[in-house]
Amino acid sequence: MKLGDEPDYPAILAEIQAQVRPYVGQGAVADYIPELAKAPLDRWGLAVATLDGRVYTAGEAEEAFSIQSISKLFSLTLALQLVGPTLWERVGREPSGDPFNSLVQLEHEAGVPRNPFINAGALVVTDVIRSHVPDAAQAVLDLIHRAAGDEAARFDGAVAQSERETGHRNRAVAHFMKSFGRLRNDVDEVLDAYFHHCSISMSCADLARASLFLANRGRSPYTDEQLLPAEWTKYVNALMLTCGTYDAAGDFAFRVGLPTKSGVGGGLLAVMPQGFAACAWSPGLDRVGNSIAGAKALELLAQATGLSIF
Ligand code: GLU
Repeated sequence: MKLGDEPDYPAILAEIQAQVRPYVGQGAVADYIPELAKAPLDRWGLAVATLDGRVYTAGEAEEAFSIQSISKLFSLTLALQLVGPTLWERVGREPSGDPFNSLVQLEHEAGVPRNPFINAGALVVTDVIRSHVPDAAQAVLDLIHRAAGDEAARFDGAVAQSERETGHRNRAVAHFMKSFGRLRNDVDEVLDAYFHHCSISMSCADLARASLFLANRGRSPYTDEQLLPAEWTKYVNALMLTCGTYDAAGDFAFRVGLPTKSGVGGGLLAVMPQGFAACAWSPGLDRVGNSIAGAKALELLAQATGLSIF
């Protein structure tokens, strides 16, 4: 490929589909949220949205899945819209080196979460949003609709309810932070909004579209709305690279070389600034919680296009 040429995405995606097959079905679905255990282990999809707004797909890229922690990209974007960089007074910007739902660091660090993508940090971000809007989860969903230029994303009430019933660890994290005075709103309200934005269900194609503003200096090519200033878009991408894929962020930077955010529903959303937003999905997770076939697809995509931030 010559510099400046657009990669041949249809051919590249067809080749990835062939190569990723052996990885589909590997790993285990997340079952600590009982409703997520119903996810089909044999599914796989990939969508690449390019800056001109086109979306290339392979596999089951139109099938909706539970985006879980990928919603934290949008809650972070919304919180930055609402309070700007003062957000960093409430939440840090360093990888935690601990599991995404850990309580350990909070004790030593007076309840201030390391970054907005671990659960503690995302709960603080949701708390910040709740201080400005009455329905924080709906505001996150509205932002996704505005970014994608369509209304395909929706809450999955069964998933939200399932997490509400079983999310004891998130409750512990939230109450622990409240004890340090780090949450300003009612704990149950914050948890409810958090469970709801994690329950958002959408397809690879729609998620790639909704995230394209992150590859386009903050502007959605679908609606032309500047969702974040270019400089703040860089903040989100940098945090995706360093903290977006649980305890495997270093390995992802090494293998894929793209800012990526994952979710326990098996989705992975990767951004190539000035290039594309790509969403890979397959419910089988590895030990730290990243989709095995999804990660392979992104690795192959970066290799085949020759595109990475490094
Ligand atoms: N709602 C999930 C939780 O809080 C999100 C986890 C994830 O996707 O990383 O446990």
